[in-house]
Amino acid sequence: MNSSQRISPKSTVAFGQESVAPEVLHWSKTVFSKWASSGLAIVLLSISGFAVWSSITTDHLGREAISSSVLSDYYSAAATAVSAAESQERQYQLEPSPEVRRLFDAAMKELTNSLEQVYHSGSRKDRLLVADVRSELPSYLESIQRLFDAVDRRDRAEVRRIDNNEADPTFDKIEKAVLQASAEHDQESISSLGKLRTRESFNANTTPIVFVVGLILVGLFAKVLQRTRVELDSQREGALHASLHDKLTGLANRTLLADRLEQALRLGRHHNSITGLLLFDLDRFKEVNDTLGHHYGDLLLNQIGRRLVSVAREVDTVARLGGDEFAILLPSVDGLEGALKAALRLHAAITAVFEIEGIDLDVEASVGVVISGLHGDDASTLMQRADIAMYEAKKQGNGILTYDPGADQRSPERLAMLGDLRRGLDRGELFLDYQPQVSLSTGKIMGVEALVRWRHPVRGLISPDEFIPFAELTGIIGSLTQYVLNLALCQVRTWADAGIWMQVAVNISSRNLLDEKLVIQITDLLGRYKLDPNLLVIEVTESAIMLDSYLARTILKQLHSMGIRIAIDDFGAGYTSLAQLKDLPISELKIDKSFVLSMQDDQADELIVRSIIDLGHNLGMKVIAEGVETADVFSALGAFSCDMAQGFHVCRPITAEAFTQWYEERART
Ligand code: C2E
Ligand code: CA
Ligand code: CA
Repeated sequence: MNSSQRISPKSTVAFGQESVAPEVLHWSKTVFSKWASSGLAIVLLSISGFAVWSSITTDHLGREAISSSVLSDYYSAAATAVSAAESQERQYQLEPSPEVRRLFDAAMKELTNSLEQVYHSGSRKDRLLVADVRSELPSYLESIQRLFDAVDRRDRAEVRRIDNNEADPTFDKIEKAVLQASAEHDQESISSLGKLRTRESFNANTTPIVFVVGLILVGLFAKVLQRTRVELDSQREGALHASLHDKLTGLANRTLLADRLEQALRLGRHHNSITGLLLFDLDRFKEVNDTLGHHYGDLLLNQIGRRLVSVAREVDTVARLGGDEFAILLPSVDGLEGALKAALRLHAAITAVFEIEGIDLDVEASVGVVISGLHGDDASTLMQRADIAMYEAKKQGNGILTYDPGADQRSPERLAMLGDLRRGLDRGELFLDYQPQVSLSTGKIMGVEALVRWRHPVRGLISPDEFIPFAELTGIIGSLTQYVLNLALCQVRTWADAGIWMQVAVNISSRNLLDEKLVIQITDLLGRYKLDPNLLVIEVTESAIMLDSYLARTILKQLHSMGIRIAIDDFGAGYTSLAQLKDLPISELKIDKSFVLSMQDDQADELIVRSIIDLGHNLGMKVIAEGVETADVFSALGAFSCDMAQGFHVCRPITAEAFTQWYEERART
């Protein structure tokens, strides 16, 4: 069995043990996946942060160690210079010579240079130290100068005095400061190098750990992400499945059917095969819902779905199009005969009795049958024609019918009208003309009939006879009637505001009488425009009465009890039984215009007109003659005591503005 046809009741998606609403799951999964993504990002950021931090701090320590070692070198140069100067000074006292003085001067110069370097690359403390030493240097040099002179004079006593009292103390100060700073900086340099080494070994140890931990975390987060992604994917798949399947039966829905139909047609063109489409509509399914309740209705639809699937071939697609409508796509079928055989088999399967919770239910269905090639080449034409065939089968009570272009006057251009009409209603392309109805005894204007017209953007003005039957067939009639009622009652309000109290008659199709919403819609509109219900007449045709439907009768009675008048349109052309007439709350009979038009040439028609007038009066109804084209007919009808007349002789259907003008002119004469 095809997976799309498996019937499974499902409204929640189960994960693990519990069932959680899918939207909640989806939400938490999304949050989870966001967390996992953020975790992943944080780990990666931390690893990069660590790498940057360790390289910056190592670099800093390196620089510190280098500058500290350079400074320490300058200090030791200064210290060496100090020792050299001292030793040359002593040497001079023992063996004075110009060479020794030159060496002493060179040592002093070296000392000054080194101090200069320290001053430039050292810290504030170093600069203070240099300044100190520099301040001592001139007096030291001056005393050395005098000491060397005393040596030259061989004045031993003076030499000793200067050495002990002046040169040595100053020199000691200098020597002490320089040597101490040099020793300190040696220490500092060693400790910087130590720090650098510690940092380097820390880096060497921690970097692999950080990266390994990072890798593990990345792996974990990636795993979590992957798992949530898989779950989200499966949820998405679930949603896709839901969008293509009917919730109640699990069968393919209209979208999936249309898709498969197109695919089958495409393949058919390649392989020269024929595609068949069957449209099933249950008869009187509503009664099951109404009498047994929706629970039984749902169970029945489910069982019908199962049965259709069990009888269909594996390659066929069984779809539920909504309500009590099913379709079966036969992707490859043995011509029209093959499609009809399948239709018979499937029809027989669902007309066999169903047992639902102990109750036996009989189902009747009407089936429309079409095949590719013979009835159309594209999916939408085939769908529409299967629909038309199904409606025809329903109308004729025939069970199964194939599409018959002869019986259906709907040419392709008429089929295109379906979309146009919907758009036309949306864009307000439809408008109303009004035709007056006058009293035959007083000539007074009693009311108007609202007649719809369509100003098509391409085809121009289209008369209702061309699109109303079509609207009735396709179900658009519901919106159309609502649209017309709204326009008509709005106009009555406009006239009332101008002081013209005008009754309006609106044509209602028999299909509207099978729609419970009608009463509510009319009540709402009367309320919206603050109108008395007796300003509205509902014209229904004999065919609507003949529906003999409980619902239609109920709706008519409800409308009547609200104070709305009911007229039977085109009376005489159908076959209304007198019993039906008597039972219904009818206020007016409208004689079909075919009798009125020819009543002066045809004795029988005149007789029919007179009989209808009598019948109506005997049943307490008003009688109105339509199609009054001449003054002769007008006066003849008056002589037969007909109540009202409507026709070209009085006035053609005209726009609301034209009617207002016509009304006012007539009132003046
Ligand atoms: P109907 O309800 O029988 O409307 C009377 C039709 O007879 C109108 O045609 C009107 O123009 C025409 N008529 C009026 N006086 C004369 C006359 O003296 N001689 C002749 N030969 N014809 C006359 P129209 O407007 O083309 O409407 C045709 C039909 O379309 C209507 O027949 C009605 O059944 C349907 N229709 C019109 N408007 C609506 C609507 O809003 N809703 C529905 N459901 N049907 C409508
Ligand atoms: Ca009418
Ligand atoms: Ca009529």
